[in-house]
Formats: sequence, structure tokens, C-alpha cells
Amino acid sequence: MKILSVNAGSSSLKFQLLQMPEEFEIASGLVERIGNKNAEFKIKFNGSSKTQSDLMVLDHSVAVDLVIKGLLENKVIASLDEIQGVGHRVVQGGELFKESVVIDDDVVIKIASLNDLAPLHNPANIIGINAFRKAIPNVIHVAVFDTTFHQTMPEESFLYGTPYEWYTKHGVIKYGFHGTSHQYVSELAHARLGKAHSKIIVAHIGNGASITAIRDGKSIDTSMGLTPLEGFPMGTRSGNVDPAIFQLMQQKEGYSLEKTLNELNKNSGYLGISGVSHDSRDIIAAAEGGNKRAQLALDIQAKRIVDYIASYYVLLGGLDALVFTAGIGENAREVRKLICDRLGVLGIKLDDNKNNSRGDKEISSDDSNVKIWVIPTNEEVMIARDVLRLQNK
Ligand code: ADP
Repeated sequence: MKILSVNAGSSSLKFQLLQMPEEFEIASGLVERIGNKNAEFKIKFNGSSKTQSDLMVLDHSVAVDLVIKGLLENKVIASLDEIQGVGHRVVQGGELFKESVVIDDDVVIKIASLNDLAPLHNPANIIGINAFRKAIPNVIHVAVFDTTFHQTMPEESFLYGTPYEWYTKHGVIKYGFHGTSHQYVSELAHARLGKAHSKIIVAHIGNGASITAIRDGKSIDTSMGLTPLEGFPMGTRSGNVDPAIFQLMQQKEGYSLEKTLNELNKNSGYLGISGVSHDSRDIIAAAEGGNKRAQLALDIQAKRIVDYIASYYVLLGGLDALVFTAGIGENAREVRKLICDRLGVLGIKLDDNKNNSRGDKEISSDDSNVKIWVIPTNEEVMIARDVLRLQNK
């Protein structure tokens, strides 16, 4: 059975067509720079890839048409009837969605009611859902939420130290994100440990990044919060700051709330500290070339990540495995080393040779008290699994 996994962002649309239940990738790709005249469409299938550039893609429905045309014209599928289910990544499920759901009009309205809690993400997710429901109307569509996996956090983790009424009236709590990734990776780590009770920390470090403490397969704390801005510095996001920054920047620079928030989301992290780039490859190259601010960007991030790991070590009462995943966690050995070299006091020890090799692997030294693994994430497979599960219900 063929199932399509869709991840619609504000200006991009990623997709993967999977053969299920085998979990085999038939095709994948993305449309980038939606809303522009120079959009790009990439599709990979059968070991080859094709790119179309300088396309006029003014909205997500045009992007959806491109994806469907790409699948048909490249004979990945003979007709749309072959697609028997579509899974949609939705960033914010709030407290309304404790698990993945089959999408109907009522679900779409409920997702839209959470727009205030994820203004950069949920509206784009909804546009993707609507466009695909229109294009492929007669199959099951399922919403899979980034927040669901973190619904097991206890109150002391998810409540802020803010007035309680902010929670009851407006849902001001920590929701956490990247849930499908943390779940996918921690399930594999749990199975590898081969014991009933496990203590795992997953470091999902990509452009967006978060860390989760997982006890016996359940999230008990995570670094992202009400929005994906909380936590440690990322590609362009600041992570935690003192909220009094808003007043200071208003006084000093005349910044509105929106302007400061935008700076914290889009011009901070690697990009803001280094002034070089948001991309870890550029930052690592610049740091190796002697650029002090690029090195500082890496050091600040590593320091803050270690703060989380240390606090989750205490929360979990020890640790069986530390797992790195996502673009940087899987590929940037330099970032992993900067982090692990600060963890020796906890008996967490990296093997430099193993760390330098590629792929899914163990990178801890033989005398490490804790396993350190690199495990590639696969959010698309998690989404497709939920489509299959709900279809069979
Ligand atoms: P997101 O899904 O949040 O956009 P990804 O998980 O795709 O993020 O990660 C993007 C990051 O991964 C970028 O900073 C990119 O530089 C980094 N990355 C990807 N491949 C490599 C690599 N081979 N070496 C170092 N960093 C890499």
C-alpha cells in the first residue's frame, strides 16, 4: 500500500511516498520558496533526482499540484488511486489532540483554533491539508502532531512559573515539539538497550533543535516550550532568553514586540552570534578557519545543550543512552564532540574514532557509563505508520 507523508511549512512543502507496511521509500522531494517566482521543485525516485527551478509557485495549492504532477509524469505512480492514505505533520496539537486523528472538517477547525499557539506553523499545515484533501479526496487523511509524544510530561515539567490562570484561560504551558522524531529514535534506542526500563536522552539537533528526557518510552521533559523558540540556540533561533529583553530592545532600538520576536526567531542562534550563516557546515568551516564568533556560536550552543543533558540526567536518575539525531546530530561530528567532551564528569565518554565514521552507529568508548548513539530520524515513517494504524481501525 502506498502512503504519502506531507510536511507543509510556511514556505516549503516536503513529501515522501512510502510503501507500507514495508516502510520502503518510493519517492521523496520538496517544493521550496513557495510564495515566490523563483520556487524550486525537487523529486527523488529510483535512485535518480530531478530539479525544476525558477517556478512561479504563489501558494501551497500550486505546490501540491507540482508534487502530484511530478509523481504522475515521472511514472512513480500510474494514477492517484494508488495513493491509499495521506499523513500530515501538524506542529501544534495543543491539549486538544492527545494522539493522531483522522482528519474531517471538524478536525481542521480545531487545528485552526490552535493557530495562536503556533502562528508560524499551523496555518501552513492547514493549507497543506486542505490542498491535499481537495486533490486526493477519497482516501483517509491523518494529522500527526509534533506535540503528542510530550503529552506524558508531568505538570511540574509542562507548567511554567507564570500565573496559573494563563494556563487555564489561554493554554500557556510547555507543549514541546519534534515529538515524532523523539519517539521514533527513542523506540529504536529502547529496543537496542534490550531491557524493560530505560533512561534515554534524545538530542534532535537540526536547524530547529530540541532535547527530550524519555523514561520507559515516555517523554518526561523537553527543551522546547509553548513555541519552538524555547530551549538552546539553534540555526536562527535564540532559545531561552530573559523576557525583559523585549522591554530593553523597545527602549534602545524602538523595536515592537513583533520585531524583537522576529529577531529571536530568525536572526539569532548560529546566524546571530556568528554573523556568518545559519548552516552548521558554514559555521564549522568558519570556526576551523579561525573565525572567533563562529567558534563562539558552537561553544554557546554546546554549553546550553549540556545544561539540558545534565539536568535531564538528574531528572531521570541516571542515563542508559544519549542519542544524537537530525541534520546536525547525525552529520556534524564536531558538534557531537563539543558536547560530549563536556560530559566526562557524568562518565559519558566519546570514542573519537567511532565519532568520525558515518551512519547509524555507537560512538561511545568502551569504558563509557552511558551508550552514545547516532540514530537517523525518520518522521515520515512515523507519520505513515499512524495512517496505516488508523486505516486499519
Ligand atoms: P530542519 O528539519 O530543522 O530544517 P535538519 O534536520 O534538516 O533541519 O538539519 C539541518 C542542519 O543540518 C543544517 O544546519 C545543516 O548544515 C546540517 N547538516 C546537514 N548535513 C550536514 C553535514 N554533512 N555536516 C554538517 N551539518 C550538516
